[in-house]
Amino acid sequence: MAVATAVSLAALNGGAPVPRAGAGACALTSGALTPDDLPAGSSVLDCAAVGRLVTHAGAGVTVPEPGMAVSVDALTQDGSAHGFTLAVAADGTVSYDLADTGTHAPAPGRATVPDHAHAAGGAPGRARAACADGAYATADHKEYGTYEWFLGDGALPADLAPGDARRAFEGAIGTITAGRNDCGFGDAVTAEARFVSRTGNEADVDRDAHCTARDGVSVWDAGDLSGGVVATTCSWSRAVSGGPDELREADVRFNTGDHAFTDRPTDTCFHTYDVRGVATHEAGHVFGLAHVGRGHESQTMFTNSFTCSTAARTLGRGDVLGLRALY
Ligand SMILES: [Zn+2]
Repeated sequence: MAVATAVSLAALNGGAPVPRAGAGACALTSGALTPDDLPAGSSVLDCAAVGRLVTHAGAGVTVPEPGMAVSVDALTQDGSAHGFTLAVAADGTVSYDLADTGTHAPAPGRATVPDHAHAAGGAPGRARAACADGAYATADHKEYGTYEWFLGDGALPADLAPGDARRAFEGAIGTITAGRNDCGFGDAVTAEARFVSRTGNEADVDRDAHCTARDGVSVWDAGDLSGGVVATTCSWSRAVSGGPDELREADVRFNTGDHAFTDRPTDTCFHTYDVRGVATHEAGHVFGLAHVGRGHESQTMFTNSFTCSTAARTLGRGDVLGLRALY
């Protein structure tokens, strides 16, 4: 995928020179870069770009070493999409996936997951809509084995005690690895997850919700992020020939600096996000799902999160189809 993108962009350039490994100087300006400064086809080796920040449409990632890709996904208050992927091939060549809205919508009547009669059990209104909409989008990575994750040792969303936060996140991650839904679809996800321990390491996300350099430890924690962002996931993966990239680390940070969270929304809930719903959405990113946009509000992977709603705790049809496309 990454290679194909670089090649097609080079072809579109119509013969314009594309920097290649060893081709010589590449002077980068200081400060944050954009994809215009470090275009697809350029070399992180020629440009000494590893460790530099690249921003695009309000999101940002730190350029990884050759052979790695990094994705940033921000869950926002207003539903605006903030996310992209920067991949560095083994030879240092850069490619991007800047579109966060590559929604796959199966044609009506060509569903690949059989419906079951008990689809309307539970919450009827949302369940019907969620189970009718098959739209999904995937990032180009997946967990091939077991996602081993840690809980940060600082404050946690909703001021949850560590044991309660662990249970909330474990439940959310388990919803993805078990493909839990109210639509009657069985589990087809082969990936697993395992909580390891609390850690002094932090999620590798800075205050601007940009992904910093990875520390090799997958951490779920809380902190202050840019105001419109509810939570951010940064994921790092390594290229696999003939398949989606292999997840190596994924960190999740909740923005407790600007938003209120609860793990039990009540009738009097106001402007407060459901920890488990948000965590399920972020876990979707960890395991390779990307956002679906307007018109797909019933799906857990919709670009924004609704306050005081627990609907995102269970998966919709598109969420399940996306996982089935990957696993
Ligand atoms: Zn998201």
